[in-house]
Amino acid sequence: HAKAQGRNSYQFYSSQLNTQSSEHMALANSLHQAFEQNEFRLHYQPLLDLKTKQIVGAEALIRWQHPKLGLVMPGKFIPIAEETGLILRLGEFVITSVCQQLQAWQQKGLPHGRIAINLSGQHFRLQDSLRHTIAKILRDYNISPIHLEVELTESEIMQNSDRTIQVLSELRNIGIHIAIDDFGTGYSSLSYLKHFPVDTLKIDRCFVQDVTTDRHDAAITIAMIDLAHNLSLNVIAEGVETEEQLAFLTQNGCDRMQGYLFSRPVPPEEFEKMVMGGKHL
Ligand code: C2E
Ligand code: MG
Ligand code: MG
Ligand code: MG
Repeated sequence: HAKAQGRNSYQFYSSQLNTQSSEHMALANSLHQAFEQNEFRLHYQPLLDLKTKQIVGAEALIRWQHPKLGLVMPGKFIPIAEETGLILRLGEFVITSVCQQLQAWQQKGLPHGRIAINLSGQHFRLQDSLRHTIAKILRDYNISPIHLEVELTESEIMQNSDRTIQVLSELRNIGIHIAIDDFGTGYSSLSYLKHFPVDTLKIDRCFVQDVTTDRHDAAITIAMIDLAHNLSLNVIAEGVETEEQLAFLTQNGCDRMQGYLFSRPVPPEEFEKMVMGGKHL
């Protein structure tokens, strides 16, 4: 009996593993084609200023409109893009689409503010020409670098940090803003932080989630806000879902927020409507 049970549970796990790896393989096999078939979409999540309560920009977040699987979220294919090296091409796609979108918005007279994009550490480690690539795309679409913010996670910055910091400085020198994403989840030594060429700390959602119920998360969040301000950095909280979280962050001097409370990431037309309609907190 025990043996049979053992075999069943083995089968259970093995078939679960199979579905997982076959999905992974299906995605890996069609990732190349996704570029040719133009299947990537950028959604935009509004960033709000907590003093003025207005939309001051957005974070561009990629989705994959897969012909069979529907809308695939980045958590499923960014790791594959990283493994296969396609992440570099994906990054260029994101920068180009955002600049194209900014140009279209500029032509309509839309006050769009600054758009944040996520880059992978590989861009900094492997792509010698990152600054030139970005500068060229900005020129092609006639976009000022001040409209762009580059996000890199704290843990990515810490890998090969000398090289990464050098490239981040180059980007910052041409006027692009730099944000440390998922701040608090990596292992950056705080003494390092003063050497980082950054403008913004993004407090990770995991702290914001329980900020009104867990006194440790509350203390850490307050400490991160104060740390940012003492280093003359801007601070933004991600993943704000409740009015209580919003009130806490506002009371404690956080500069900006993004989260489902105000809006999920949406297609560009919907973001445009929010800005034009003057939607605010
Ligand atoms: P991230 O850069 O930290 O982006 C924030 C994530 O939190 C997004 O998930 C966003 O939809 C989600 N989020 C925002 N507000 C809330 C909220 O109130 N509640 C909850 N539960 N979630 C919220 P998404 O779009 O699934 O992206 C996940 C991650 O994938 C991103 O984390 C980023 O690391 C990566 N990613 C997304 N787009 C790109 C891209 O174009 N390039 C690269 N290299 N990575 C990307
Ligand atoms: Mg981000
Ligand atoms: Mg984040
Ligand atoms: Mg993240």
